[in-house]
Amino acid sequence: MEDENKLKEKLGLRPDEDYLCFSRMGGAGVIMCKDCGHEEEIVSFTHGMMSCDIGRQCPHCHAFVVEHNEGKSFHQFGEAASDFICPECGAVIRKKEEDFLKGNDDPLFCPKCHSPRLQYLMSFIT
Ligand SMILES: [Zn+2]
Ligand SMILES: [Zn+2]
Repeated sequence: MEDENKLKEKLGLRPDEDYLCFSRMGGAGVIMCKDCGHEEEIVSFTHGMMSCDIGRQCPHCHAFVVEHNEGKSFHQFGEAASDFICPECGAVIRKKEEDFLKGNDDPLFCPKCHSPRLQYLMSFIT
């Protein structure tokens, strides 16, 4: 895909390298940075009967955070009561009226060195 290659170029990745995004991941697991070796346990997407946890990355401080959603019914997102704010830095990550899956295709970065060369090891599948 041409657009994807352009994006990779912008990120400083070679065409044969790949970036991670939440839409390509599932469950919960560990991300590992190939550049600085940083490891962190993160949630991509997990759900229970009536609620789910949606992984996000703060575009401001690059912290991995989890938004909890109380569903309307089984496997359906409920309405957000307020904007989702980064617990680390206070930046607005998703506005109340924006889609729950907003940013799911955005590349993820190492919270430490901001490299897009991340590897994801899934340890928990929902
Ligand atoms: Zn790193
Ligand atoms: Zn933040």
